[in-house]
Amino acid sequence: MQRTLVVDTIKNVDEKVKLEGWVSTIRDHGKITFIDLRDRTGIIQCVGTNLAKVTTESVIEIEGKVVKRPEKLVNANIDTGKIEIQMEKLNVISLAQELPLPIDGDGYEIDEEIRNKYRYLDLRRPRMTRNIRIRSKVTQFLRNWLTNNDFVEIETPILTKTTPEGARDFLVPSRLQQGKFYALPQSPQQYKQLLMVAGMERYFQFARCFRDEDPRKDRAYGEFTQLDMEMSFVEQEDILNLAEKMFSELVKEIFPEKKIFQSPWPRISHKEAKEKYGNDKPDLRKDKNDPNELAFCWVLDFPLFTEQSKEDFFYGSGQAKWAPSHHMFTSPHPDDLNLLETDPGKVRGLQHDMVLNGLEVGGGSIRISDPKVQEKIFKLIGFSEKQKDQFEHMLKAFTFGVPPHGGIAPGLDRFMMAILNEPSVREVMAYPTSSSGQTSVLDAPSETSKDQLKELGIKVNEN
Ligand code: ASP
Repeated sequence: MQRTLVVDTIKNVDEKVKLEGWVSTIRDHGKITFIDLRDRTGIIQCVGTNLAKVTTESVIEIEGKVVKRPEKLVNANIDTGKIEIQMEKLNVISLAQELPLPIDGDGYEIDEEIRNKYRYLDLRRPRMTRNIRIRSKVTQFLRNWLTNNDFVEIETPILTKTTPEGARDFLVPSRLQQGKFYALPQSPQQYKQLLMVAGMERYFQFARCFRDEDPRKDRAYGEFTQLDMEMSFVEQEDILNLAEKMFSELVKEIFPEKKIFQSPWPRISHKEAKEKYGNDKPDLRKDKNDPNELAFCWVLDFPLFTEQSKEDFFYGSGQAKWAPSHHMFTSPHPDDLNLLETDPGKVRGLQHDMVLNGLEVGGGSIRISDPKVQEKIFKLIGFSEKQKDQFEHMLKAFTFGVPPHGGIAPGLDRFMMAILNEPSVREVMAYPTSSSGQTSVLDAPSETSKDQLKELGIKVNEN
């Protein structure tokens, strides 16, 4: 007999079906037992007598007849509430032990270490299942939308060289060239710009970005996902309009119950945001308790530089005066080019931040495509000759015909967190790292064997 999905049982009243799934609950009423069976499509009540012994969360297979419930026993809370299964056979495929954590509630109160250790169980929680499934719908929508709008999806390397975005790099030792290291990309920034030199014109990728920086509620430790995009022959206006259209259509299609507070999205200068709201990611919601209000806005006219601080590892940790406020490939505002010489602190960048309900959910810019301007920026951020050499390939590439280009990279985790009203990005990731940097289930980082280290030419300092 073929398997029927729970959702399809409604079409099979008075017929015999076979269902497979998990035992959500068991209610034992003496001789009669009620089992709620759950599969990926829903949940259904099954009734039977003299059944094999089973525990909650076991995997079972049942055969039985779909019957209508008497009117007064209808459960309006579930799609299959008007019917139930009269079990004839129950086969226990895999008996579950008692679970180490409850999975019926929303789980916010449970210790993070436990939730992460047993993430595969935590994901059975309806809230988590739903979050992960909606995330998949969102990525599918975005992929289709971009493909229909002439974008090409292109993967870029993970084992690469540093691409600074203001965080520490993760390094991977090379076995073939001992003593040398790859860096995991903090973003595909250089590769995507080089794809514009390659003539791809419109690129996107769901890109994994790796940054060794302290975790926060809106930032997972280690890695996160961006919808990375780059376009040629565009101005900032084109990028803003495209992103605004794409996300507005996404909300309409996947979150029809949500309302975008203002369209077109308000545009606020960095200065105004700071003065009026005290930060550069203002929360413009009228009613912050309303889960269906979406207040998108753009923050523009950022200063191109910030004063270099100890945190600017890549740029010399405070040894030079300036650090890029976005990244060093961001174009200065054309009206401010002469200020680069006289008053760099006043130069505005062609940067744009996309903000949703007080979270920065994306950033991007028009890029520098003139090697001379790029050289000037390198100088202002205090790059040594050696540091400059690391980006020689960009300057070189720009001498072979580079289109004007720019892009944006909305953070998928943060967008999902905002739109689902979750308190942390970890609630929308299948396998997040914990706040102490430990991975889910597999428990990395961990020690490695002496042999492996030897092969890599690495000695670990015992202290
Ligand atoms: N690479 C940038 C970032 O990660 C985004 C961009 O400029 O497109 O913030």
